[in-house]
Amino acid sequence: MRQIIIAGNWKMNKGLFETEQFCKELVQFATTHHEERVRMIIAPAFPFLKIASTLLLGQPVGISAQDVSSHEDGAFTGEISASMLSSLEMQFCIIGHSERRQYHQESDTGVRDKQLILREYGIKPILCIGETLAQRDAGETSAVLISQLEGCFKDVPLESGEEVIVAYEPVWAIGTGRTASPAQAQEAHALIRNWFEENYNPEIAAAIHILYGGSVKPDNIVELLSCPDIDGGLIGGAALKLESYVQMVQSATKLIQSR
Ligand code: PEP
Repeated sequence: MRQIIIAGNWKMNKGLFETEQFCKELVQFATTHHEERVRMIIAPAFPFLKIASTLLLGQPVGISAQDVSSHEDGAFTGEISASMLSSLEMQFCIIGHSERRQYHQESDTGVRDKQLILREYGIKPILCIGETLAQRDAGETSAVLISQLEGCFKDVPLESGEEVIVAYEPVWAIGTGRTASPAQAQEAHALIRNWFEENYNPEIAAAIHILYGGSVKPDNIVELLSCPDIDGGLIGGAALKLESYVQMVQSATKLIQSR
């Protein structure tokens, strides 16, 4: 059975003090969180990954980077390599976030390369795809998602489906307060899972975690997580405050324990 993953993407928020404060308070909650089927992940900014993983050492909280270079090493000023993340014992890394695609011209081919290099270093990618509002309005959602999947997984081997997490993030719902309805989200998630069934096999499709991202908050998380193909959330704004992050973890816990 798939876990529920509650992943907080902090984006370019929280400095050293706020990171320390959040992690220390999260430790207090994490020591009381005994539901292994609900996985907590936080993604602080690069400079604070080490302090976050030190403070959360031994706790059931995964740490994720927010991006990685597709290059091994060398003259790429400002970039961070997979081997550097691996030296920090990073477990996860977000790739292909729509903000990277929009502001840093990240392409599906680049996301594919990042997926491969992360996996080479034992870091699980959280690979984001999603359509823009114009694409949805033009009825292109399915075609866009399939084309992103084809690009990001071109000749990429999967053995179990556990090698990567996919996040469906409709661009029009990110940071806008506008959430996809559970029916819209479920439809996209079912399409994505079906793509893995057709292009890999039913076991991989059944095992792969597909997260929803786009204005998830304590008020709407339960109805989203109740959809059969939604395995958690990649959450920006509502994951920045410890209280609402914990609330969402608790909701996920209640939900999974009632199944
Ligand atoms: C995100 O950062 O991936 C995201 C979905 O942000 P928000 O929850 O704020 O919409």
